[in-house]
Amino acid sequence: TDLSHIRNFSIVAHIDHGKSTLADRLIQSTNTVAARDMKEQMLDSMDIERERGITIKANTVRIDYTADNGRAYVLNLIDTPGHVDFAYEVSRSMRAVEGSLLVVDSTQGVEAQTLANVYHALDAGHEIVPVLNKIDLPASECDQVAAQIEDVIGLDASGAIRVSAKTGIGIHETLEAIVNLLPAPQGDRDAPLKAMLVDSWYDSYLGVIVLVRIIDGTMKKNDRVRFMSNGTVHQIDKIGVFRPKMQDVEILGPGEIGFITASIKQVRDTRVGDTITSEKKGTDQALPGFKPAQPVVFCGLFPVDSSLFEDLRDAIEKLALNDASFSFEMETSAALGFGFRCGFLGLLHLEVIRDRIEREYDIDLITTAPSVVYHLHMRDGEMRELHNPADMPDLTLIDHLEEPRIKATILVPDEYLGDVLKLCQDRRGVQLDLTYAGSRAMVVYDLPLNEVVFDFYDRLKSVTKGYASFDYVLTGYQEDYLVKMSVLVNDEPVDALSMMVHRDRAEMRGRAMVEKLKDLIPRHMFKIPIQAAIGGKVIARETLSALRKDVTAKCYGGDATRKRKLLDKQKAGKKKMRQFGKVDIPQEAFISALKMD
Ligand code: GDP
Ligand code: MG
Repeated sequence: TDLSHIRNFSIVAHIDHGKSTLADRLIQSTNTVAARDMKEQMLDSMDIERERGITIKANTVRIDYTADNGRAYVLNLIDTPGHVDFAYEVSRSMRAVEGSLLVVDSTQGVEAQTLANVYHALDAGHEIVPVLNKIDLPASECDQVAAQIEDVIGLDASGAIRVSAKTGIGIHETLEAIVNLLPAPQGDRDAPLKAMLVDSWYDSYLGVIVLVRIIDGTMKKNDRVRFMSNGTVHQIDKIGVFRPKMQDVEILGPGEIGFITASIKQVRDTRVGDTITSEKKGTDQALPGFKPAQPVVFCGLFPVDSSLFEDLRDAIEKLALNDASFSFEMETSAALGFGFRCGFLGLLHLEVIRDRIEREYDIDLITTAPSVVYHLHMRDGEMRELHNPADMPDLTLIDHLEEPRIKATILVPDEYLGDVLKLCQDRRGVQLDLTYAGSRAMVVYDLPLNEVVFDFYDRLKSVTKGYASFDYVLTGYQEDYLVKMSVLVNDEPVDALSMMVHRDRAEMRGRAMVEKLKDLIPRHMFKIPIQAAIGGKVIARETLSALRKDVTAKCYGGDATRKRKLLDKQKAGKKKMRQFGKVDIPQEAFISALKMD
């Protein structure tokens, strides 16, 4: 295809503003998919993505469009992941295209993810066409929202296209804008092969499928290609494009987007952002900005039913096949038995994996408190990463500790601003900026990630009744006074409950934890001290009083069935207990204690 007849673009939007619906409409109106094969949300393939309306993998579709000027164009749409956890993937897929449609719901206006995603698009040097969606709704306020786009983002929105992705108004204008306003790709067909690895996933029939954008040169079947980040060489055994179903092609040239398969076994061997070149006479200039995915949030996953450990291993290994950004290693906990310590790109990523294990593999899980990655600067000068509070070395060995910080952007209607500021302040936040974007306040905070991974989203949602939008980027590491808080039940440390806390709030957290546990652990025949401690120093303590000898004594009256019921209940409860020293702790207690509030 002649380069001047190609347009590559992505759609950037806040969640629910209509990205998928618009993509569907573009696919449908160009007859890319026969009407009878059209189903909603063509590009959102995984069930969980569909249900939650989020896209995790970058999907792509090639559309043929004959423009009003009579020429035939090839339009490649890459649908980028829509969530903050996948910021690196978003930034890479943006670099694979030249332009973006900026979709803003004209009944809602600019939101936090609109900003985050548009900044990625601007960073990638995109031409951006603003699209005001949902104009069929009575609450649509196109003029105000166009003004807001100009104010907040600084883009000229006077020519914004007014669209209803639902009814089809403005779809033709959108296609014309893609052709007329977005730039054609550039590239040299005769230069050595240089292609970007945009995404990859595992297919049980074909092995790993690699989504590529050709920059220079060409690729065809049987070519031998090299992945520059790790030097591996593969022979292409299938090459094609997505419409959105796979369709084989002879060759892919500059500016084109398509897929290859090459008998690659593991997604781990294909890294997003890598440069692909030919085995012989390849380029020596890799694309800039490549970095391997780094897990940011860690937690332990344990099967509620410990006999399912091998099933859990199997599930985790299968999921990891398709997700290079997810890491795991075996973990043993005295309290929870055998499980896995897993690393994720963020909380949503964690939730998605956990949900898939529970639903697709039918294994109930206990998730330990999420922890971030701390940098321990040891007295001997070494720097160590800490992924699990249970592994915290003796304090005397540590010179200082650094924790990851984020820059969080929150957009919120005025009336909730006070509560949001208080929440951020409570979480050790430092305010960086406070401005207004139309009728909404936009606050920017520097926050420790460790305070956000607990329950920040939930708190934010509840104090703003769901009206706040939130986005963040990691900014780096900063020294602070964090300590490991251990929990002791009957003087035995319970490893699964230890956590890293800021020294200033350790007493508060410790108190909350021991009070909760006091209600959750059943009484025994002896007194049980429940303590929170830092090193050897107890900072909070409760005592669970001893049970009277006859458990049925309180069933005055002597109703025999009631007595039996109580004894049966105790027996059933026993099964789900974990023996801890001399103390039995019910499974429920861990699950509840690990939910922070
Ligand atoms: P995404 O999260 O950006 O992919 O958003 P979706 O495309 O999934 O759309 C979110 C919701 O808005 C869905 O319920 C759509 O049916 C609805 N929606 C999308 N576009 C329009 C539109 O133009 N008009 C109306 N009334 N609803 C729309
Ligand atoms: Mg969507």
